[in-house]
Amino acid sequence: ASRSKGKGQWAMFSPEMANKAEARLRGESDLREAIARGELFLVYQPQLSTETQKVVGFEALVRWNHPKLGMIPPSEFVPIAEENGLIVSIGEWIIRSAAAQAARLPSSIRIAINISPLQMNATSLVSTIVHALAANRLDPSRIELEITESVLMADTGFALERLHQLRDMGLRISLDDFGTGYSSLSYLRMFPFHKIKIDQSFVRGIETDAESRAITQATLTLAKLLGLRCTAEGVETLYQADFLRQHGCDELQGYLVGRPQPMDAMRHLIDAASEDSETQAAPQENEY
Ligand code: C2E
Ligand code: MG
Ligand code: MG
Ligand code: MG
Repeated sequence: ASRSKGKGQWAMFSPEMANKAEARLRGESDLREAIARGELFLVYQPQLSTETQKVVGFEALVRWNHPKLGMIPPSEFVPIAEENGLIVSIGEWIIRSAAAQAARLPSSIRIAINISPLQMNATSLVSTIVHALAANRLDPSRIELEITESVLMADTGFALERLHQLRDMGLRISLDDFGTGYSSLSYLRMFPFHKIKIDQSFVRGIETDAESRAITQATLTLAKLLGLRCTAEGVETLYQADFLRQHGCDELQGYLVGRPQPMDAMRHLIDAASEDSETQAAPQENEY
């Protein structure tokens, strides 16, 4: 049975919607055609191992280059696409594109993909992933799915079942934005994640408040005790990086390491990552 909410069920136009740009975004046709017109693209943000100082992964982050409104960040259109159901087809495109990109990288590098609640519930998710892996002859462990608590809150039983299915297939599962929700700890007990991502709000506070330092340190200890890897998000300063490294954080992600950019701009990091490790000649294929 289809778990996805039918479209229209969610789309609402509020009378107070003064902002014309937002009204335009809420009109589904722009977004519906964005994929076909090639207006969506992925940027990739590097994740650096504190142990080897090499890039071990990239997080795929979607961008929309709107013909009239210019560059639109995901914080503005992903929630809308989540409401009107378009995130499912957009998400399929993201999975296919990110898998194709992963196949062109050294095998030591993973690609992380964000999966939102509606995507997790869509009947097509598993087959989309299976096809993307097969089409690119990609080992499932090269793909990391990032989910937030909201994915589990939507329909915990179903989400857990599906996460187990994906984990059994060999994909890696990360808990994103850790610490910002209501019951992160109980989700850690319910599902064997591979990785916790410490939310950038805590990382930002490392320099300024003792509470953020304590929570960050406790999260790193918790991850270690649970046998999970830990990535810190939003690392912008050397002070933060040193603190995180000293307290056992496995990976750093943030502007200090690199801003999200098209993969072409990341060549130097990829070359450095593949030194000493066997590099497979990547087939030069067309862009998504
Ligand atoms: P997220 O998954 O937690 O992604 C991290 C966000 O932090 C990204 O924002 C990234 O650009 C930003 N960021 C990274 N390093 C730094 C830093 O050092 N300082 C600061 N201030 N910010 C940093 P972005 O790309 O705007 O994405 C926002 C959110 O939108 C993501 O949060 C994710 O929840 C969602 N999103 C992005 N791409 C996708 C996608 O492909 N699919 C889905 N379903 N959601 C996506
Ligand atoms: Mg993420
Ligand atoms: Mg996050
Ligand atoms: Mg976030």
